[in-house]
Amino acid sequence: MIQDAGLGQALGTDFFSVREQFTPEQWSAFTAVRRFVDTEVIPVAGDYWERAELCWPLIRRLPELGIVGEDITGYGCAGLSPQASVIEGKASLRSVWQADITLDNVRVPAANRLPGARSFKDAGRVLAATRSTCAWAALGHATAAYDAALRYALHRHQFGRPLASFQIIQQRLVSMLADLTAMQLYCMQIGRLAEDGRLTATVAGLAKMHNTRKARLLAAEARDMLGGNGILLDNHVIRHMADLEAIHTFEGTETMQTLIVGRDITGIGAFA
Ligand SMILES: Cc1cc2nc3c(=O)[nH]c(=O)nc-3n(C[C@H](O)[C@H](O)[C@H](O)COP(=O)(O)OP(=O)(O)OC[C@H]3O[C@@H](n4cnc5c(N)ncnc54)[C@H](O)[C@@H]3O)c2cc1C
Repeated sequence: MIQDAGLGQALGTDFFSVREQFTPEQWSAFTAVRRFVDTEVIPVAGDYWERAELCWPLIRRLPELGIVGEDITGYGCAGLSPQASVIEGKASLRSVWQADITLDNVRVPAANRLPGARSFKDAGRVLAATRSTCAWAALGHATAAYDAALRYALHRHQFGRPLASFQIIQQRLVSMLADLTAMQLYCMQIGRLAEDGRLTATVAGLAKMHNTRKARLLAAEARDMLGGNGILLDNHVIRHMADLEAIHTFEGTETMQTLIVGRDITGIGAFA
């Protein structure tokens, strides 16, 4: 591990001052989450990832942040205690458990039906939300990878100078920053559309496609800029790179988002 470089700690990268558009309430939620991640999550993230364990002690503290609750109660749900078998052997999202669920002879009482859900279009509203989450998650991973690459380039010396003093390194960092800034703008706009109730599954699909594609490339670039240190979990970037693979795939692969947007702009479905 590279000592003293502070890899993993956020730099607050925001080249276009996107966060100036946050309300005071959003800003306070943002800083609370950032503090929690920097001080509580980052020091243990690599270990949990390596052991493929859910970080229950921190998950239980998420309600403190007021952004998410721990459990689902009622409706006959099993809550979050593991009732199904965990899918093992994953090389992405290792510290998140995916469950192998078998549904056998399941009947959902009419009273528990999702209110207002009558058609596939209604399901599309859920897709808009889940695809947005992927766009935001990709932005988070990419930001962490960029911050680590920049810190590393300033810290690591070659030929008596920091890596950051070489033109090619600067070019690579700026190219990463340009993509990152575009990803932030995508996220800001889908957030605004969602707030207005105007976010469609297709628009969210374009944001997911763009952000996961850019994030994958950016994380690979950052990993390379850390040289041999880039493959160590202690330096974080390889974890982000691996986790992005799952985000790139679930809620519709890049290809599927492309075909969905393609259908929207041409009026022709090219799926089959
Ligand atoms: C970590 C993780 C968590 C997940 N969680 C859930 C969950 O909670 N609930 C759930 O329902 N699912 C979940 N999934 C499943 C996920 O949604 C699917 O893996 C994803 O939609 C891709 O489907 P698939 O794996 O069947 O791939 P396939 O559909 O077999 O695709 C394989 C490849 O072929 C391409 N392809 C497929 N069709 C076409 C086409 N018509 N034209 C061109 N290319 C095509 C795809 O883009 C992909 O590159 C999860 C997956 C992962 C990795």
